[in-house]
Parts: sequence; structure tokens; C-alpha cells
Amino acid sequence: MNGKHIGLIYTGGTVGMTMTAQGYAPMQDFAGALAQLLASTGETLPRYTLHAYPVPIDSANATPEDWRAIGGDIAARYNDYDGFVVLHGTDTMAYTAAALSFMLQGLRKPVIVTGSQIPLGAARSDAPQNLITALQLAASGRINEVAVYFNQRLLRGNRTTKLSTESLGAFDSPNYPRLAEVGIHARFNEAALLPRAASERFELPAYGRHVVLPIRFVPGMPVAAVRALLDLKPHAVVLQCYGAGSAPDRDPALMEMLARANEAGVVLAACSQSPHGQVAIGTYAAGAGMTAAGVVGARDMTFEAIVAKLHHLLATGLPPESVREALLRELSGELTA
Ligand code: ASP
Repeated sequence: MNGKHIGLIYTGGTVGMTMTAQGYAPMQDFAGALAQLLASTGETLPRYTLHAYPVPIDSANATPEDWRAIGGDIAARYNDYDGFVVLHGTDTMAYTAAALSFMLQGLRKPVIVTGSQIPLGAARSDAPQNLITALQLAASGRINEVAVYFNQRLLRGNRTTKLSTESLGAFDSPNYPRLAEVGIHARFNEAALLPRAASERFELPAYGRHVVLPIRFVPGMPVAAVRALLDLKPHAVVLQCYGAGSAPDRDPALMEMLARANEAGVVLAACSQSPHGQVAIGTYAAGAGMTAAGVVGARDMTFEAIVAKLHHLLATGLPPESVREALLRELSGELTA
């Protein structure tokens, strides 16, 4: 297909698994199964070269170091290919895609992350459609960003979230339009795509030295639970608030604790437990205390993008004050200005 050459990076996930007595586990000969599948498609596919990781993982085990390894591999081979497809497990695909978008800023070729809900070799697998379409999209010359392709939808990687454990359409981007809908033809949403950058601005600092933790408020949660978490001395905490950005404030101990953590250099970010819409702490009195405590409302970023962005910003060596500021500065289309 139009002479394009795609780098295909296989990291693991259901796509490359097979049923064993212990449940799904990586299949023996993924390269063979893949070659067999793609051989039958003829001219409609671009040429690809497979880079299979020696130990494919369930993405539940992926760490920021794994994100960094994938980003580093793409950067190292950037000039060898016209685009990349990353095969990845669905469970933490959204985190990896977001992290890649922060490492690979200013992309001038596509990085398409995909996988499947049903293994490649199984009956009714969604892997062939996802993989073949991802390869075609990677060769389309239309995309200059990290995107997730899954079940007829092309989504911005750092806007993507896994919404279903069952549906083959597992992903969507609740706060951003889909980049393309792929039926018989691919219909691109030109206005939603990132423009081709003038030049790449890759940032590949060492990941994995920082601790970013979530605190999800639930009714009846003891304040001591928050204290125990803050006692672990995380570098950053994502507060998963209610609705527009409320948190329980009847016991003043919580806001005092947050203010102290903030002063001690912990970066505190707030998002909503609702996937659609912006977080705006201070809309309700219950939550206003967070602003005073130094919490940064992370606007309409997904939880996954906030976690990945905090890891990225901390890895670049910025001090906490600068991380708080940079969190609200757009890097790769992850938030609405
Ligand atoms: N547990 C698998 C993974 O994320 C799920 C999947 O790929 O669909 O690796």
C-alpha cells in the first residue's frame, strides 16, 4: 500500500494470548500467527516490520518504565518507518497512549495504539479488524499524533479511556471528538486532528522514580485513610472528586492535611469521577477549600492522562511549583484550553 513501511511493536495483551489451563496467557508463536493473518490481505496493507518484546506482558503489569521503553523504541526507530502501530493490552492502554503522547510531542507521523478484546486466533476475534485498520491508518499520511484505534473508532490517545469490559468498542474519548470513524471508509474529523508539527519535540526523561497515587473519595471514607496515603510521601496525588469537583469538607482535618502536603511539595491534582465534562473546584462550597489548599483542578483531562502527565513532568525534573503550572499547559492536545 503506497510504499509505506510501518514499525509494529508488540508489547503483549489479549491480542497475543491463547487459552491455557490457567486462563489467557501469551501464545508461543505470535510472529507466526500474525504473519499468517496478514499474508492473506495482499496489497491492501503496508509493509510492516515486527518488533516483538521478548516477554509480552498483560498490561495490568505495565509500569511507567514500560511506557518509557516503548517511547524510547519509537524514538530510536523514528526515521526507519513512516508510522508505528503499538499492540498493547486494553487494560492500561489509555495510560500508555497518554504517556507516549507526552514523550513524543510534535509528531510528524502516526503512532497508533491498538489491541483486542478477544485473542487473535480465537473465533470472532476483533484483533484482525483492529490490527489491519491500524496498519492502514498508520500508512494513511493523515495522522500526526498518538492515537488509539479500536472497533471502528480512532481516538486521541491522551483523551482515551476504557469504558467497557465487555463491548468490542471498549474505548471512547468522553471529552474530545473522535478523530475518525471507520466503516467501509475512514471518515476523518479534520478539525479534531493535531496539525503536522514543524518539528519533533521529543522528551524522553527517565521514568519510574516518582510515586503518583490516586485518592478516590467515597461516602464514609475516614480521613485517616487519606492521612495514611499521604504518609507514604507520594510526589503527586490525583484526587478523584465528585461531579464538578466537590470533596467532603465537613471535617476540616482533610483540607488541613491537603494544605500541609501541598506545602511539603506534594503536587495535588483534582479530577472528576464523572468521565464527561470539566472539573472546576470551587463551583461548590464543598471543594472550595481545595483551591486554598493548593489543589490544581485538572480541567477536562482524563484520569489516565493526568497520571501519565504527572509522571512525565516529574521525570523532566521540574520542581513541584512548576509541575503544578505545567499540568494545565497543553502538551499534546490532552486538555481543552
Ligand atoms: N488484561 C489484558 C491486558 O490488558 C486485557 C486486554 O488486553 O484486553 O493486557
